[in-house]
Order: sequence, then structure tokens, then C-alpha cells
Amino acid sequence: MQSVRTLIVGAGVTGLAAAAALSESGDENYLIVEADSEIGGYCKTVIKDGFTWDYSGHFFHFKHPEIESWLRARMPGQRIRDVEKRSFVDVGRHIVDFPFQKNIHQLPQAAFIDCLHDLVMAQSSDASRADANANESFKTMLYARFGKSIAEMFLIPYNEKLYATDLGTLDKDAMGRFFPHANLKEIVANMKVANNATYNASFTYPEGGAIQYIYALASAVRSDAIRLREPVLRIDLANKVAVTPTGEIRFERLVSSAPFPRLLDLAGVLYNRQIFSWNKVLVFNLGFDRKGKTGVHWMYYPDKDVSFYRVGFYDNIFDSDRLSVYVELGFAKDAPVDVEAMRARVLADLRRVNVVDDTHCLVAEHTVVMDPAYVHITKESMAEHGRLSAELQRHHVYSAGRYGSWTYCSIEDNIVEARELVRRLQLAGAGA
Ligand SMILES: Cc1cc2nc3c(=O)[nH]c(=O)nc-3n(C[C@H](O)[C@H](O)[C@H](O)COP(=O)(O)OP(=O)(O)OC[C@H]3O[C@@H](n4cnc5c(N)ncnc54)[C@H](O)[C@@H]3O)c2cc1C
Repeated sequence: MQSVRTLIVGAGVTGLAAAAALSESGDENYLIVEADSEIGGYCKTVIKDGFTWDYSGHFFHFKHPEIESWLRARMPGQRIRDVEKRSFVDVGRHIVDFPFQKNIHQLPQAAFIDCLHDLVMAQSSDASRADANANESFKTMLYARFGKSIAEMFLIPYNEKLYATDLGTLDKDAMGRFFPHANLKEIVANMKVANNATYNASFTYPEGGAIQYIYALASAVRSDAIRLREPVLRIDLANKVAVTPTGEIRFERLVSSAPFPRLLDLAGVLYNRQIFSWNKVLVFNLGFDRKGKTGVHWMYYPDKDVSFYRVGFYDNIFDSDRLSVYVELGFAKDAPVDVEAMRARVLADLRRVNVVDDTHCLVAEHTVVMDPAYVHITKESMAEHGRLSAELQRHHVYSAGRYGSWTYCSIEDNIVEARELVRRLQLAGAGA
């Protein structure tokens, strides 16, 4: 039986970043097993008929300059675009700047008055009561901080389309730092001097697509360390053995980036299945024969009668002359996805919301279902993840990454987490 010190499950950002960190620390005794036939996980790029698409729009905003420069140093010859984000919300064909809550003054007057009235009432209501409400759930937080009209015109319908769940079940911090908070003073100030900066006000994008960051990570990984088409089928915690279709691998420690409930299943750990829930996202990458709208990178669609929740415009990032979009639709984890039916609806809706007109001709397409896509972060999921991952760690099994840590994060967060985990394991020494 093969033996390895560190067995890594998954060759996405997290698995590769963990392997690269091990190599850089001088520890080459690791192996990555990947179920798919390619590396990259969700950070893959598809190039078709001259269009470059990711699985879903992946754009990058690094908070750690040293991580960005580490990656860039491993991307020789790759041009990286720096883009000032332009994103908008389409509320019943009325377009306002994103974030919606800071741009209510751009709404028709009656809607603006409703939003402003409810915002002031919500923010000036009894402070302790508002705080108490805000702490209950994502939904109560939205009502308490922004009032009924902002919540019901955009924040609730948009996020319900994305998460495909009742927001009342999500933790108030379900989106963490990715949620653009704004208080009354900031919203009113924005009416005179626009400051729509969010965490990703400017972003970078490699011309070869998101996969370039994967290649950068992989370049720091031992060349024979990745085994593709090799899913882990079972993990024997007591004997520290992972079973794959080609045999058994004994490990001292295992780092998994597989979705957490899947890891629990593989390891035979019992848990309450109701606690871990998520959405799946159907993505249509579509290429047309001629240019569409300019000056927009993303558009958000809260209206329930529009099938998608977001459309992103690659051609405006690349400054290219043919419309190239990704279109995202949210589904509950158990909902059936009829791709053909949704494709017809999406094409009709793109026309209805004026992304394309009758003269646009679709010339290339690619479809993917990301499952899981956004995990549903609840108080219960956080508590159970903490308890069950501590149990796994007692067997030297470490769950990491967006789905291993059951969280909402960026690829940079995955790299930070993987490096930190490796540092912890190295400090703990052999047998950790
Ligand atoms: C819609 C959407 C948009 C996003 N946009 C951005 C963005 O703009 N910017 C950004 O920074 N981040 C973005 N992200 C987040 C980013 O995609 C993730 O943080 C990152 O790709 C997660 O990497 P990972 O390695 O943790 O997980 P994954 O990419 O899921 O990789 C896990 C790997 O494990 C493999 N695996 C699973 N089970 C097994 C098994 N049993 N045996 C072997 N292998 C297995 C899988 O095949 C996969 O390759 C987005 C995510 C989504 C869903």
C-alpha cells in the first residue's frame, strides 16, 4: 500500500495552495488526488470560438499584496487587466448604480421617497430593538438596517434568487465582508458625492482567464504529485487510509477541500443532514456575433420574473468587440435543473432586459452547474462545522477551502487558509 505523509483531496485553489506551501517549507512528501480530469476546481477557464469564460465570473481583488505578487511572479507573459468596476442594478428596467442601498436617489421619485422614509424610520427606531432584530437572521438584519422598501425592492428578492432559500434561515453575517453595508449618513452623502466603493471596487483579471492563477499555484507543486481522475471513495479514520479506484493510500494526515458533508460521508461520520444546505448555480456562458452594452461589467436583476440574478460582461473587461456574457441562475440544492428549458428562458429574458436585441446572433456557448455554489451559513451550520471538524482533526483529517470550511470566500482567502493550515501542521510536527 502506498504511504504518504500528507494526502490532499482536491486540486482546486485550496489543495494546490496547500501543496505549494508544503513544497516551499521543504516538505515534498505529499500527494494530491483529484476526482476531475483537470486541475482548478471551480477556478477553471473555458476557451471556445475565441471567447474566454470561467465557470462563473471570477474576478480578483487581493488584500494581501504579497500573495498577488507571489502569483504574478509565476505567470510570466500573462497580461493582467486592472479594471475599475462598473456595476448596476436593473429594477424593472430602471437602472441604478450598485450598491442599490447607496443609490436610492437614482430611483423614480415615489420609490426613492419610500426607500428614504423606511430607511430613516428603521435606523432611528429604538436602537436596542433594531440591534436585537438585526441579530436574528440575514433577513431581519436587512429590514432593521435598511427598512422595508430597500429590503423588499432589492436586497431580499435579489438574495433570494441567488441563495434560493428563505433568508430568514441564514445567519445575519452569511455574506461576511462581501455584503456592502451602509449607514444613513453614508447613503445620504452618496446623493451628493458618489462613493460606491465595495470590497471589489477595482479588480484584476488575467487575459488567459482565472485558470492562470491555478497554473501559477501548480507551478510551485511537485510535478508528479497530482493524480487526476482519482476520487477518494472512502476514508478509514481509524487506520488513516483513503480508498480510491486504484487502491489504498495510507496517510499521516489528510487535507480535504471536498465539500464538508461529502467529507463526512466519505469518513463515515454521522451528522444531521438538514443542517448543511446550499444552492446550486446554473451558469450560461454566451458569445454573440457583435458588441452589446458598453460601460458595464455586472448587472444585478432582483425581479422574480427575470430568470437570472446576475449577468457579467467579459467583453467589457477584455475591451473586445463581440458580446460575451456569463448569466447566473440560483436553484435550491434539490431542485431539478432543466438546462434546455432554462436556456430558452435566459435567451428570451436577455432580450427583454435589453442585454441583446433582435440583431444579436448567438455563436458560442458553454454551460455548467456549480453544485454546491453558495453554502447556506446558519448558526447551526457554523456550530456543527466547528464540532465535526474538531472531531475529524482528532484523526488528523483537516477540512479546508470554500466548501471544506463551509463558508463564503475568495480564492485569496483559500490561499491564506491553506498556508495557515500548513504552517500549523508544520509547527505541530510529525503525526499532526
Ligand atoms: C458563482 C461563484 C463565483 C465566484 N466568484 C469568485 C470571484 O469572482 N473571485 C474569487 O476570488 N472567488 C470567487 N469564487 C470563489 C472561488 O471559486 C472559490 O473560493 C475557489 O474556487 C474554491 O477553491 P477550493 O479549492 O476551496 O474548492 P473547489 O474549487 O471546489 O475544489 C475542490 C476540488 O476537490 C475535488 N474533489 C471533491 N471531492 C473529491 C473527492 N472525493 N476526491 C478527489 N477530489 C475531490 C473537486 O473535483 C475540486 O477540484 C466564486 C465562487 C462561485 C460559486
